[in-house]
Amino acid sequence: MPHWQYLHAAKTYQLHIPTGMASKMFTHLPSRSIFVDEDLYLGEEWLGHWMAHELGHLATNSAREDDAERVAREYQRRLAKAGR
Ligand SMILES: [Zn+2]
Repeated sequence: MPHWQYLHAAKTYQLHIPTGMASKMFTHLPSRSIFVDEDLYLGEEWLGHWMAHELGHLATNSAREDDAERVAREYQRRLAKAGR
């Protein structure tokens, strides 16, 4: 989504923004939505890597980073395999 819209959504939900990702993307668990700032989009590989992390939050229904990362590693592994 456009940067202004992303900022608005982040402000509205006041939530989970991944460590080190300050303002690139976040997941809103109640609505099962992932918000991505298009100004910071760095390509398909970048998106795949971070989307795996965000999907980890959804899969575990947890805002905890370690929960998300545990699942994300598996998604990233599958993604790397599919890219071959
Ligand atoms: Zn996270």
